[in-house]
Order: sequence, then C-alpha cells, then structure tokens
Amino acid sequence: MQMPTALGHAMVGLGCGALVASRQLPRRARLSTVAVLVLLAALPDLDVIAFALGIPYRDPFGHRGFFHSLFFTTCCGAIAWWIHRLSIRLYSDTTLSWSALLVFLIVATSHPLLDMLTDGGLGIALGAPFSNERLFFPTQPIPVSPIGLSARLQPILLWEAAVFAPPVVLIWIGRRIVLNR
Ligand SMILES: [Zn+2]
Repeated sequence: MQMPTALGHAMVGLGCGALVASRQLPRRARLSTVAVLVLLAALPDLDVIAFALGIPYRDPFGHRGFFHSLFFTTCCGAIAWWIHRLSIRLYSDTTLSWSALLVFLIVATSHPLLDMLTDGGLGIALGAPFSNERLFFPTQPIPVSPIGLSARLQPILLWEAAVFAPPVVLIWIGRRIVLNR
C-alpha cells in the first residue's frame, strides 16, 4: 500500500488516545476508545480494495481518492465519536466529552495529511468530492510503503517505529506525570 504503513497511522491513534482516555471513564471505555482511534487512523487505507475491484488508482474512488478526502475522514471522525459515545453510555454514567470530538477529528484527518508527506505513489484527493486533484506537501520525508509485502517493508516499519514510537511513549508518560491520570 502506498502510505505510511498501518503502523505509522496506528501510532497517531495510539498517541492521541492518551488525550481522551481519562480515568473518569471506566477501564473498558478507555481501552475501547484507544482501539477505536487506532482503527480510525488507519481506516482510509481500506480503499486498497479498489485494486481488487479493478478501479484504477487515478479514479476518484481509487486508492488515495475520495476515501482519503477531508470530507470523508472528517465525517468518519465525527460518526465514530458519536457512535462510541453512545456505546459507552450503555454501560457507564460518564462518556466521551465534546472536546474528545476534536481529538477524533484530528486522528481521522491525520491519515491523508500524513500520506501527503510520503515520497511516492499518487497524491491525495484531499478536496474530493469537489476536486479529484491529487496533492502532496512540498516536502515528503516519510518513505512510502510498498503495495503488498516486499523486502522494502521491514526498513520502513523500523523507520516509522523509530520516528513515531518515542513521541507516543512520551505523551503517555507525560499524561501520567502531569495530569496524574
Ligand atoms: Zn492512506
């Protein structure tokens, strides 16, 4: 797949999970919130199924097309927050705050923005469905992940672990020390 790997995207969800998985929530809700954010961060790459369906890469519904747009990812973030908020309410008196919505939106939209920093493949249809122009940021420091398994994947996974893991660990440690929660 042409993107940061699922590991890189998942790290964003994992790190941001520290911002919303407060101890005011039951343990089950904290764990499920982090899990939802991890899945939300990686969700747009399910569009690789387009290759199997014979949809060309450049098609508006091809890989990195509509399903990587700000429109789609913002909707996904809001819907995921709303459904997860309701689901926690089923077994808890407390649930996700309105401010958690912002974190869900940041995690959801981080996916196409990170993909725009990768050094290969086609750009991202950030403005779909209003524009199918494929976009990159001016600099692309993130090595693109190959489509399917390849020998290139391992060094990219190591690169992403080295870059993404330290801030994620620091965020979780910082939350515990600063907020004592
Ligand atoms: Zn992607």
